[in-house]
Amino acid sequence: MKLNQRGLLIVISGPSGVGKGTVRKALFEEQGHDFVYSISMTTRKPRVGEVDGIDYYFVSREEFEKRIKDDALLEYAEFVGHYYGTPKDKVERYLSEGKEVVLEIEVEGALQVREAMPDAVFLFIGPPSRRALYTRLLSRGSEDSSTLKQRMDKAEREFLLAHKYDYIIINDDVRNAADRIIAIIRAEHAKTERSIHGYLDMLEAEEKNGK
Ligand code: 5GP
Repeated sequence: MKLNQRGLLIVISGPSGVGKGTVRKALFEEQGHDFVYSISMTTRKPRVGEVDGIDYYFVSREEFEKRIKDDALLEYAEFVGHYYGTPKDKVERYLSEGKEVVLEIEVEGALQVREAMPDAVFLFIGPPSRRALYTRLLSRGSEDSSTLKQRMDKAEREFLLAHKYDYIIINDDVRNAADRIIAIIRAEHAKTERSIHGYLDMLEAEEKNGK
């Protein structure tokens, strides 16, 4: 019997370029977890190789603003001139199906989720150094120098909010970072407030069945 029926919401956050996506992909390779990725909506243009409906839902500002008005987003933020947000309906559905729902979002949005869903697990992924972050952003080659600077400035502000998270994971090595997250998820599932009801239900059902 599954003790914990409702899924866990896992918020992976931290500065742009820190490797949140790579860590998330390593996490999804782990066996024994029913992870599902919440595909975000954005008004930024697709990068080479990005696919609509897989990497993001790419929409116009008008369409995004309609979602805001309709209260269809769990959170949203404006990041370096573009909107990014999490569609609410899918997250709710996956959680009710008992899945581990992973959001990969910037810090402002993560803090909104903290308000809306305080029982989620909040992970701050940090770079081993500023230089490492800069090198990563540069090697991605998708930003011009002004956007690169904006992303580094934003990262400085995001570092100051790391204390608002449940856990800090330094992405010095992707495999290590993913392993630490798996350990955290296991521990979170075992927390009494998450598992007690399911456990008591199981004992009661067992008693009823005369075992
Ligand atoms: P990028 O343009 O590099 O794909 O994303 C820029 C930043 O927006 C990254 O830090 C990324 O994690 C974040 N982001 C992606 N999707 C969302 C979302 O749905 N909500 C928020 N708040 N941030 C997001």
